[in-house]
Amino acid sequence: MYEDIWAIEHAISLLDWDIQTYMPQSGIKARGEAIARLNNLRRKLLLGIRRDIEKLEPKNDVDRGLKRVLEREYKYYDAVPEELEMKLHRITSEATVVWRNAKAKADFNVFKPYLEQIVEIEREIANRLGYKDHPYSALLDRYEEGFTVSDADSVFNQLLPSLSKILENVEDKFTRKYRFEDEKYDVFQMSKTIEYIAYEILKMPKDRFRIDVSPHPFTTSMNRNDVRITVRYEGYDFKRVLYSLIHESGHAIYELQIDPGLEYSPLASAPSMGLHESQSRFWENIVGRSYEFVKTIYPLLNIKDSVDGVYYYVNGVKRQPIRVDADEVTYNFHIAIRYEIEKRAIEGSLEVSEFSSLFNDLMDKYLNIRPKNDGEGVLQDVHWSQGSFGYFPTYTLGNVIAGMVYYHMKRDIGFDVINIEKMKEWLREKIHKYGAIYSVKELQMRSFGETYNPSRLLDYLKEKYNA
Ligand code: MG
Repeated sequence: MYEDIWAIEHAISLLDWDIQTYMPQSGIKARGEAIARLNNLRRKLLLGIRRDIEKLEPKNDVDRGLKRVLEREYKYYDAVPEELEMKLHRITSEATVVWRNAKAKADFNVFKPYLEQIVEIEREIANRLGYKDHPYSALLDRYEEGFTVSDADSVFNQLLPSLSKILENVEDKFTRKYRFEDEKYDVFQMSKTIEYIAYEILKMPKDRFRIDVSPHPFTTSMNRNDVRITVRYEGYDFKRVLYSLIHESGHAIYELQIDPGLEYSPLASAPSMGLHESQSRFWENIVGRSYEFVKTIYPLLNIKDSVDGVYYYVNGVKRQPIRVDADEVTYNFHIAIRYEIEKRAIEGSLEVSEFSSLFNDLMDKYLNIRPKNDGEGVLQDVHWSQGSFGYFPTYTLGNVIAGMVYYHMKRDIGFDVINIEKMKEWLREKIHKYGAIYSVKELQMRSFGETYNPSRLLDYLKEKYNA
């Protein structure tokens, strides 16, 4: 009964992918209209099978999963009327353009009135969805099922003090400046290297996976036999393109390994954003930045420096203001700042006019630096202009779960980055094949016997940075 809905989702994915890769700019108006209509059609069809889903007596885990996933959607539809969705959609479409200008001019005041409206709508959505402990939990749950403010507080309270200690004690070979940061590379040559790493080293399947170029790297899956990623060639500082390739490939490996039996159903996807992100970060950081992996790709890079030089360059640690440029040690501070701001805004104890000063104060507290202006401070990310309150913490959950994957993999089969197939096989059995059959918390319990345990990530970082 889900196949027609699946077909619409399939079409929307391709239309979205095309916007970000090949569509001529002026096509956006008609494309936006087409996607909005397809989404409405999807909503209608989904509501059309509501009775069947409610009547369904689950006979197995797949039925239970189906019921759980679709009932979450119905709960959202019941709570958030179409008019409110449309209102948010209209404001965020405009706000994204305004935000881009505000960021370029480093002028928060231009963006402020839009952000105020967005926060107000997000608070309304939280209240309509309902919550037990804290309104922000309702928004967290949209991206990470069952994850609450008290879970998030516990994760950050465990992480931050230890990360501060690691940061203080990082050896200076990690904090030194490496010349590759400013060095240019030949884009054509690099694209050949990137393809080689994807297909020959990470063993991505050529008939089910492709790589294109877009301004912001991303992964999309039409279905498990058509998974696509993009990268961006900036032309300098080659670690940027190299590790975005490995990051997106990590997302792709997840999609490629979902059980074929779940195809055409709403279970053919990850149960949460944090779990998906854990796979990209496991491959990018824990595998891709390991000494053994750097040694493996070193000959392909064709550079004069030593393996050690490249290893310290790709693992550099720096107190700097930009989240997307952050390293493994500082990254979670950038998220903690945004978490604090979102939580307080949604509970109503922080005005939008105070975002900028709180952002800068927290940056100072955690990293001992102050952004030069709002462009490299509170305005740096697109998320708030799109109304994605509750999303940022999933990046940290990705790091936390990646640490758990490392710990449990090492214990089960050892950690051997040369044997890529063996790692993929283990990940398929522990995580990927289940799709969304189990909620993210249940899947962690089944596979690891623990949920969101930050000590695994901290142990890994202490081992790596010798701190
Ligand atoms: Mg990602």
